[in-house]
Formats: sequence, structure tokens, C-alpha cells
Amino acid sequence: MNSTTTRGLAFDIRPSSARRTPQERAELMANPGFGKVFTDHMVTIRYSAEEGWHDARLEPYGPLHLDPATSALHYAQEIFEGLKAYRHADGSFVCFRPEVNAQRFNSSARRMAMPELPEELFLGAIETLLAHDGDWMPTQEGHSLYLRPLMFATDVSLGVNSPSSTYLFVLIASPAASYFAGGVKPVSVWLSEDYTRAAPGGTGQAKFAGNYAASFLAQAQAVDKGCDQVVWLDAVEHRWVEEMGGMNLFFVFGSGDDARIMTPTLTGTLLPGVTRDSLLRLAPELGIPAEEGRISTEEWRSAAMSGDLTEVFACGTAAVITPVGRVASTAGEFTIGDGQPGSVTMRLREELVGIQFGHRPDPLGWIRKVGSAG
Ligand SMILES: *Cc1c(COP(=O)(O)O)cnc(C)c1O
Repeated sequence: MNSTTTRGLAFDIRPSSARRTPQERAELMANPGFGKVFTDHMVTIRYSAEEGWHDARLEPYGPLHLDPATSALHYAQEIFEGLKAYRHADGSFVCFRPEVNAQRFNSSARRMAMPELPEELFLGAIETLLAHDGDWMPTQEGHSLYLRPLMFATDVSLGVNSPSSTYLFVLIASPAASYFAGGVKPVSVWLSEDYTRAAPGGTGQAKFAGNYAASFLAQAQAVDKGCDQVVWLDAVEHRWVEEMGGMNLFFVFGSGDDARIMTPTLTGTLLPGVTRDSLLRLAPELGIPAEEGRISTEEWRSAAMSGDLTEVFACGTAAVITPVGRVASTAGEFTIGDGQPGSVTMRLREELVGIQFGHRPDPLGWIRKVGSAG
């Protein structure tokens, strides 16, 4: 065992004695899918009320041993993040605005009465993992390394009167293929009137595991209705459009030089996506006005019918930008434009992916180096 210092923070280094061979790794990475293949190591950091954050280490990837009375298993104090590391042509490994993920992790932590993790520790964990698992950084065009930080309550107690006093932070990494290996295919969506994802005062703006647990039945209903994804409406009137599954939504009005984009305002029930925020800033740089607003399900339908609404897309770290082609609800269904990916959607996607992979200039200074090959 040895120790390294990253960003002034000590990490114990406990290398795996069971690293996959280069050939095993190549086989796993040839067709990784999404979130199924993991690298050789993980980072863990413990928290206790007395000691604060301590015992940061890199260790072999593997099962966690948990007492069945571990509080997170009962009361779901568990948050996570999702971001990617990209390999640039010069051999450097970069992340896209990772400090925003670190800040959102902490805002999720505050909502769930969990301790905040210093931003430097969040970034130091990423750098430490990449320093040891850099061989897992994909080289194939469009592939990346998906990073999944998480934190959960580890007190062994069924008491419900106070939050846990101990927590475990874990960072794991998973090589990811491009979502669009077979080309960009528009999705169909079901407007969910039976279920809500988030209510005012609830947990919708936190990247909280329970939000997902509550969403699977609605997603299954969408599939039942012949759609790919569920669209969430507001909890009060079931009218105002909020998000699509685990992605934010954008509406494109007009076309050509007159195109502008709009995304639902962050009302406290929407997840503040890094991709959403980035597109709001990037689009104006490309001459496409961008604004936050609100749109009802009736307006969505009538604007699509009249042709004012020309494109709709969803955005998030994993799939970047996904066009929405068809919308269905209890009121019937309609198509957006000709149902095919629109030009504004594809332009924004190309620009954003270009910045992330280093094929385009980075006008807003979003790229952070987190490691390098060799
Ligand atoms: C993570 C997430 C998003 C997208 O956020 P990004 O930071 O862009 O990846 C959108 N909606 C929900 C519900 C999410 O959990």
C-alpha cells in the first residue's frame, strides 16, 4: 500500500491484483453498451460527523459489504452524479464542466440532509481513478468513460428521527459506446398524466436515487403505450411540460436564421442539467437565441400542428441530444416536423460533442484536463 497526494489530498493506493489483461479489456471495450462494464478500480471516501471526510482510497473495483440495517437500504439517503471523461487527440483525458457536477452533487446532498463533499475531493477522486485506470479510456470515435460518483448513508440503524451520521462516497467508471452508433434516431414520448416525478417542495431538483425508483412504473406505462420515453408534467395541473425521463427538453421554434430554442424554467421540480445549461449558453454563440419559459401540453400540440414548433429534443450527459419525433397522450398523437431529426437539433449536437471530444474550439472554457495517457 502507498499513498499519493492529489490536489493536496492524500489517497491510499491499493492496486488490484486482479486487473484484466489487455486482451480481456479490449474484448470488454469493443462492445461496452452502457453501464455494464466497469474498470479495475474504484475510489471510496468515508465521512463521519467526528472525523469529517477521511480514509480516501483507490481500491480494487468490487462488492461493498453492507449490514442489512444500513440506513440507505431503508430510507434511501442516496445521491449520485453522472459525467464523462473524453480522450483528446493529444492523449489528454478531459471532463466537461466537472465542477458543475461537483456543485450539483453538493446541492443534492444539502436537500437530502447529507454532508457536502469538497469540490477538490470530487475532482481529486476523478483524477486518482483515471491515473490508475487510464487504459480503460476508450480510443474509438465517439466512445467515452462514464463516471458515476455516488454517496449514501451508512449508519447501521433503523431510527428515522435523524439523518445518518456516517456516509460513503464511491466513484466508479464505465467505458461507454456512443448512444448513436447506428445513427441518431428520434424517440417517441408519452405524456404522463397518471404519474408525477416531482412536486413543489419535493426532491425533483436533487439527483436523488429515489426519483428514479418512482419513475420506472411511468416509464413502463410509456412503453406499454408504444412510446420510447415518458414525459413528466407538473404535479399541480398536469399541464406544464417538465422533463423527458432522465433528460431535459428543448423546443425549437421557427427555422433557418429565425430559429430559437426554449427550455422549461427550473421551477424546483426539474433537474438542473449540465447539458441544458450548456446549450442555453452555447446556442447564442451560434446565433440561435435561447431562453427559459414554459409550455403546456396544449401549446405543444397546437404549435406543432401550426408549424411554429419545428423541432423538439431532449438532452443529458449520457445521450447528449436526442430528437423527439412523435408525441402521444390520452388526447391522441402528433408528429414534430416530419418526425426526423431537425437541423437545429443536429447542429447543436455536433457543436457540443465537438467541444467535448476536442474537435471544435471551446469558446466558453468548459474543458478541464483530468489526466493523460501513458
Ligand atoms: C441527470 C438528469 C438530467 C440531465 O442532466 P445532465 O447534467 O445534463 O446529465 C436531466 N433530468 C434528470 C431527471 C436527471 O436525473
